[in-house]
Formats: sequence, structure tokens, C-alpha cells
Amino acid sequence: MTATMPVLVPPRQSLVVVGNGMAGMRTVEELLKLAPALYDITVFGAEPHTNYNRILLSPVLAGEKAREDIVIHSRAWYLEQGITLYSGDPVVHIDRQRRLVRSKSGREVWYDRLLLATGSTPFILPVPGHLLPGVIGFRDLADVDTMLAASAHGGHAVVIGGGLLGLEAANGLHRRGMHVTVVHVSDTLMNQQLDKNAARLLQQALTLRGIEFRMQAQTTEIAGARRVRAVRFKDGTAIPADLVVMTAGVRPNIELARQAGLYCERAIVVDDTLQTYDPRIYAVGECVQHRSATFGLVAPLWEQAKVAGAHLARSGHRRYVQTSTPTRLKVTGIELYSVGDFSGTASSEDLVLRDPRRGIYKRLIVEGDVLTGAVLYGDVSDGPWYSELIRQRVNIAPIRQQLLFGEALCSRAA
Ligand SMILES: Cc1cc2nc3c(=O)[nH]c(=O)nc-3n(C[C@H](O)[C@H](O)[C@H](O)COP(=O)(O)OP(=O)(O)OC[C@H]3O[C@@H](n4cnc5c(N)ncnc54)[C@H](O)[C@@H]3O)c2cc1C
Repeated sequence: MTATMPVLVPPRQSLVVVGNGMAGMRTVEELLKLAPALYDITVFGAEPHTNYNRILLSPVLAGEKAREDIVIHSRAWYLEQGITLYSGDPVVHIDRQRRLVRSKSGREVWYDRLLLATGSTPFILPVPGHLLPGVIGFRDLADVDTMLAASAHGGHAVVIGGGLLGLEAANGLHRRGMHVTVVHVSDTLMNQQLDKNAARLLQQALTLRGIEFRMQAQTTEIAGARRVRAVRFKDGTAIPADLVVMTAGVRPNIELARQAGLYCERAIVVDDTLQTYDPRIYAVGECVQHRSATFGLVAPLWEQAKVAGAHLARSGHRRYVQTSTPTRLKVTGIELYSVGDFSGTASSEDLVLRDPRRGIYKRLIVEGDVLTGAVLYGDVSDGPWYSELIRQRVNIAPIRQQLLFGEALCSRAA
């Protein structure tokens, strides 16, 4: 009889994830696909919830989805995967020398690898009165709860910032019965994604629904004694406000990384493998800066998650490559799609289709024989196709005449 040799099971490594949000948990999913047994995983989340789909906060606010609908991972999922989740307990300190993190409640966990996925925080305009109760951002379930509580009394909501987030907040609050004014510093809504023509159509459609706009307005003060009562502007005018939602941009959440001495510029600087300047620490999501770019939409984060997940799994041959990400507004009944560079260059040409009766506007930006941008309003069915043409730098010369009429006609012409 031969004696059986004991099987040597290597002790698992420790992976600590800071940030229980979309990018961090997607990275954990990608890692588990490749190396389910490599790490003991501990996740710290500042929010008291399990991971949920942040994008769907807008439909929850608008009453189109329930809170349960947006949960991505239940507590049972973490248990099944053997992941220790500390929710409602943010990490407050990283000791890189001893390789451990400490949470607000005093928990200390040692790591072999650390993944930072702390996201962003809303930028609150630092005008007088910005700390008054009733002034919030739009980032998490707690913000939605505050908005829902405020809307139960009706009243006036002022949304500062007419970008994607601001318009989704305005639409939701309006649908919940508030009188809503959107304040925007430029004369063009969603000016990062839309040209003036598309933005005008959008503003008209939202105005018809009952949302008001103060364009080219500079907020100078939020007034109120114990809570917000009004918003004042540079021109001396003011409007009443029971709730102020600031959607004037976000700032990458990098304080923790900075305190730990990690190299940061606007965000935590990572290389093409999502590694920070400390080889034991990776970072993904809105808290990172990759080749001078920062991120505000989920599509690039899914790519980052694949790359970081693969490297954490030790099967890392992938490199993160930036691509242009389309933007859609999640306001039911309003169709708009923007992708690529819509501003164009001195040498680019515009192909434009306007059909005011059907409320359709399409503008394609062409550089030589390559599509470089698309802004669509009213009919967005060809958006993903245009997006692919841009991404793959397809030679559009053979279909140029039909390009504005979409994929179906172009494939017939080809
Ligand atoms: C209302 C809304 C609508 C949106 N709509 C769209 C859309 O239509 N399309 C699109 O592509 N994108 C959309 N986005 C953006 C998208 O949600 C973000 O790009 C994405 O959530 C970023 O993922 P992240 O993991 O980097 O950050 P987050 O999802 O914010 O996760 C970060 C998490 O880390 C936590 N955290 C921070 N610091 C600590 C700490 N010290 N310790 C522990 N935890 C910490 C935070 O509390 C948070 O839970 C929307 C965002 C919002 C708010």
C-alpha cells in the first residue's frame, strides 16, 4: 500500500476591495470567472447597501422602477462567493507599508492586493448657503430618498446643472409632482454631448412637459435660514426652492489614495493594466485617470474591470484601450444619442437631416472618409451602428449618400 501524500493547498491570498459600487464589483466578477479560488475577498462599502445599478437611480426617482429592481448583488450572492462584505463601513486609512486597511469602525484587514474603486462625489458649488439642509447631489440611494421625501410635499425644486444627470433628476422630480426649474450656466443643455440644434429640441420637449429653464444663469447664493428657501443669481433675480439638487459635475473620490501617498493627478493615475504606482494596488472606475482621461459612464468601466480582473487573476495579458462611449438620456419618451466628437474640426464636414414635423434631427460629422461623431434626436435607432462605424473607423465613402438614412438603406446600397 502506498501512503497518500497530503495535497498542499496554497494559502489563499487576500484581496481587499474599497468601494462596493459598479466598477469594483464588476472587477470582482471578472476575477471570479478566471480564478475563483485565488483570493479571500473582503469588500468595504461606504453605503449601507449591497451593490446596485447606479444608472437606474433615475428610473427609481421617476417611479418607473422599484428599489429592488436595481440590486445587482444580493447579500446571498456575497455569501455564496465567500466574499466578506462590510457595508456602511468606509475605509479611512491605507497603510501601504504594513499592507492593511482600516475602516471607520476600526476593522483592520491585511491585503496582498488592494483594489480601489471609490467612484466620484458630486461637485457642490461652494456658494454661500451650499451647506443648508435641502441642498444635495444626485449620486446614491440616500439622495433619491431625500428627493422622494421632499417631493412628498410638492413645492419647488431647483436643479443646478443641465447635463445628463440634471435632466434626469429634473424629469424624476417633475414626475413626482414638484415644480422644477433647471439652472444651466451655458445656453445649450447637455453641452458636453449635444450641439445647439439637438439641445434646442430637447429643451422644447422638456418645456412642453412643464419643466422650466434658467439658461446662462450663474448661481451666486442659496438662501434660507434653517433650510433652503431660494436660489439667487448674478443678475440679482431669485427663484423659490424647497430642494436644490446640484448636478454640476463630479469629482473623483481620491482622498484616501492621496493620503496613502499614491500618485494622483485629477484622479488616481493608473497604467494600461489599471495598476497604480504601487504594484500591489489596482484602481478602476471613476476614481482613476488613464492617460489623462477620467471617466463618467459605465461602458469604459466594464472594459477596465475585464483588464483589472485578468491581472488580479494572474492571467493578465490584456491592456485597457479607451474608446468613445455613446450617451443616451433616460427620460421616457425622449430619444437622443450622442457619440464621438460632435464639435468637429476645421476640416470636417457635417451631414445633416432635419425633419421638424417628426421632431427628428440627425447630424453626422465626417472627417475625410471616416465618421467621427453623431448627434441624433427623435430617431436614435441607428445610433449603435454609427457608433460602430466610428469605433472601427470604417471607410464610409461607398455609403456616404445614404449614410443619414441609416443602416437598412446603406446595406441595400452596398
Ligand atoms: C443618477 C445617475 C445616473 C447615471 N446614468 C448613467 C447612464 O445612463 N449611463 C452611464 O453609462 N452612466 C451613468 N451614470 C454613471 C455611472 O453610474 C457611473 O459611471 C458608475 O457608477 C461609476 O462606477 P464606480 O464604481 O466608479 O463608482 P460608484 O458606482 O459610485 O461606486 C463607488 C462606491 O465606492 C464607495 N466608496 C467611496 N469611498 C469609499 C471608502 N473610503 N470606503 C468604502 N467605500 C467607498 C461609494 O460609496 C460607492 O458606493 C449615472 C450615474 C448616476 C448617479
